[in-house]
Amino acid sequence: MTYKRKKTEQSHGMKKGMKTKRRNKDLDEIDNDMKQENAQKLLNQEIDLDKPGAAQYYCVHCARYFINQRALEDHFATKVHKRRLKALEIEPYTIEESERAAGHGNWVSAKKRKVQTLTADDINSMDAEETFEKSKTITLQE
Ligand SMILES: [Zn+2]
Repeated sequence: MTYKRKKTEQSHGMKKGMKTKRRNKDLDEIDNDMKQENAQKLLNQEIDLDKPGAAQYYCVHCARYFINQRALEDHFATKVHKRRLKALEIEPYTIEESERAAGHGNWVSAKKRKVQTLTADDINSMDAEETFEKSKTITLQE
């Protein structure tokens, strides 16, 4: 006796034409995107022809795609981008963190960090450095 196995077909992947209109991500979402491993993915995206510049020119801080390197660099020089970097300089959860630190007897003033434009080159070289740091640490511990 034969029986047919019922195939359940589920189409994975995104439906076309369902692009969200929402252009801006929340700042804490972007903060998350700026974490090295996430930024690395965002700045090394696979070619996606549906995206401007095939997703090869992305600004992590503004969550925007650009059509080419030139457009991306022009964008880095705009007020919009610079304002965004400023907005990102104050780390989220700063209060919570400084309170926790205060509880341990350490005083941490409101954290302000320097946010610089992250480019694919930056993130890739950063990774190499970190790997280097790690191997150095391991050597020291031995
Ligand atoms: Zn930007």
